[in-house]
Amino acid sequence: MTNIMRMSKMYAPTLKEDPSDAELASHRLLLRAGMMRKNAAGLYSFLPLGMRVLGKVEAIVNEEMDNIGAERILMPFVQPADIWHESGRWDDYGPELARMTDRHGVEYCLGPTHEELITSLVRNELRSYKQLPAYLYQTQVKFRDEIRPRFGLMRSREFMMKDGYSFHATQESLQETYDETSDAYARMCDRMGLTWRAVEADSGQIGGKVTTEFMALAEYGEAELVYCECGYAADAEAGECIPHPTEYARDGMEKISTPGIHTIEELAGFLDIPESSCMKALSGKDADGKLIVLFIPGDHELNEIKINREVLGFELLTDEEMVNHGLFKGSMGPVGLPEGTFVMADRSLKDVSQWAVGANEEGYHYVGARLGEDFTVDAWADLCTVKPGDACPHCGKALEGARGIEVSQVFQLGTKYSESMGATFMDEDGTEKPFIMGCYGVGVSRSMAAVVEQYHDDQGIIWPLSVAPAHVCVIPLTVGDDVVAPAAEKIASELAERGIEVVIDDRKERAGVKFADADLIGWPLQVVVGKRGLAEGKVEVKLRKTGQKRDFAVDEVAEALDFTEKADFKKEAGLDVLDELFA
Ligand code: ATP
Ligand code: MG
Repeated sequence: MTNIMRMSKMYAPTLKEDPSDAELASHRLLLRAGMMRKNAAGLYSFLPLGMRVLGKVEAIVNEEMDNIGAERILMPFVQPADIWHESGRWDDYGPELARMTDRHGVEYCLGPTHEELITSLVRNELRSYKQLPAYLYQTQVKFRDEIRPRFGLMRSREFMMKDGYSFHATQESLQETYDETSDAYARMCDRMGLTWRAVEADSGQIGGKVTTEFMALAEYGEAELVYCECGYAADAEAGECIPHPTEYARDGMEKISTPGIHTIEELAGFLDIPESSCMKALSGKDADGKLIVLFIPGDHELNEIKINREVLGFELLTDEEMVNHGLFKGSMGPVGLPEGTFVMADRSLKDVSQWAVGANEEGYHYVGARLGEDFTVDAWADLCTVKPGDACPHCGKALEGARGIEVSQVFQLGTKYSESMGATFMDEDGTEKPFIMGCYGVGVSRSMAAVVEQYHDDQGIIWPLSVAPAHVCVIPLTVGDDVVAPAAEKIASELAERGIEVVIDDRKERAGVKFADADLIGWPLQVVVGKRGLAEGKVEVKLRKTGQKRDFAVDEVAEALDFTEKADFKKEAGLDVLDELFA
């Protein structure tokens, strides 16, 4: 007995109207198609259809992990506080870490990630270099008390993550696993049908140095990225920035009256020069309260991650602090700063010998301020957030911009956790060494949303075969009769026998309702069975992706649609296979 899903029995409450608070297509359509429901901010239930998709995404992820030799485990979702104290993250993680106390007064947290737990799990039993490398993973719910949960599954508080952790004796061994995992992540994206890019990224809370993010490209993705035709790509928050500041050369430094001019835009307009010729000044302080003034090209923004890497504990000055230091907001410059001010500038400005800057006096600016003569700079650094048009750090061409959804990330952790948590092994030379670690995360529920962002139209979702809740929906136009209903059942059975996942819309609903729901839910193929067609021995098949329709003989349709021999679900999302049917 093959399994056919029946719409008449299914808990799939579809919605005709768009939910009011859902901005993104994935959020809106997953709700409307009856795949999930919101229970509270950032908390969702997966309904049967959504669960089928989530299960398929998870299966792809687990399969690719198994294929590279990672072993599946399951760790507790609730984690004891003491291991987080050991790593130092109990204090560092902040309010995103949801903490709780049990009835005995012992503290715990809800797992947002599992570096501490896995390290504490293996440290007493993984003891010798002979046992390395070791690679374990799990697929599990995570909780992060996100400051702004939004966009449905994209940024929820509870979400499904595949997290893997590897332990190594050498950096070479870590690199090998890191590369294999990156390849596995690429295959996962391909198999889900995602258009994606691997980008250089910042390691954020997790720590470590080398890291790559896998971004599904999407118009409304939260992440900004830059990429180049040479193959280079980076997260804009982390990527190296090479701006093109321009010079506004004068015959020496000249002080000009600029009444009411406070912003770069106003100054550029007033002088009729590009913003890249005006230097943006920002004042801040380091952890010890020492005054620091920064200069960056006027058409760029200061990057918080980068300045914090350069200056420990950097904070921008408040308006009041600026006044106390005798600084003028909107009129700051490098000439005539208070004694002892540390001046730092974006390294791109090194080549700009004359600057248009504030005069440290309300209503005045300098043009042609000469670097080295009129002022000096104490330190140069990469300080700005990269943007399209900046130079590619690999080949120098202009970078392109795009937006993306971070679906997964790989990290080289090094010894951050093994050292702080005393996780060591006996190496070949007889000495105790901390493990060299890697960690690798896939947003399983976020990936599902990313697929919908890339595969939808005005009518609804268009699932790739690989993650569709079922492959084919058979739609009898009448039910309970003795012509159409049995013919539809027969086709459904024939398809199911071939290993194709079939749903039959056997509800007593008008054809229009069934068509609309089929489009909304997004089954890749629809087989429409009606009286008139049957009289001619035909049924109509619709390809959801393009809306193309084609008639097939009733007796041949199951065989004709059988893609199971053609689509290799181990490698691809199976979309092209369907196109062939309608070519
Ligand atoms: P983000 O920068 O988007 O907050 P992250 O870099 O903090 O994510 P990781 O620690 O790298 O996230 O977690 C691994 C994966 O888990 C991410 O690549 C992402 O796909 C997923 N993920 C992280 N936070 C969320 C969330 N709030 N909702 C859904 N998925 C998430
Ligand atoms: Mg990440």
